Amino acid sequence: MNMIRKSPWVSIFNASSCNGCDIEVLTLVTPKYDIERFGAQWKMSPRHADILIVTGCTNETTKKRLKTVYDQMAHDKVVMAIGTCGNSGNFWRFCYNVKQRTDSVVPIDIYVPGCPPRPETIIDAVVKALALLKEKKNETKKNNKKATKK
Ligand code: SF4
Repeated sequence: MNMIRKSPWVSIFNASSCNGCDIEVLTLVTPKYDIERFGAQWKMSPRHADILIVTGCTNETTKKRLKTVYDQMAHDKVVMAIGTCGNSGNFWRFCYNVKQRTDSVVPIDIYVPGCPPRPETIIDAVVKALALLKEKKNETKKNNKKATKK
């Protein structure tokens, strides 16, 4: 059985969502959906997070903040774009201040479709994010070992 050595910490960044996606994401900490059973813990500060959930479209104001938050996170991290807004701009994509897709601001590892996505879909994505985070950490460990041998 694979042991979880550290509970991955999950945080959320609202890049100008209508709050529909945020409400669905917040249900993950309710007893009904409870993502802590998968070993993940909820953190309000993205500085301490391994997994970042981004909701909504990035605009001229939030793209700078999202970039800053991304740079402040630990080296190995997974970023998830939740909802159609984050994936494609949704019906806001022609707005004057929505000029860029989220993945043109920061690298996105997992896209979750839906307007808003159902909590079960988000949980499925979080579980995938946990596996991806483990892969990234193992890759970094390997690279560090190689670097110290040289
Ligand atoms: S995808 Fe839908 S629910 Fe989510 S932020 Fe956009 S408009 Fe709101």
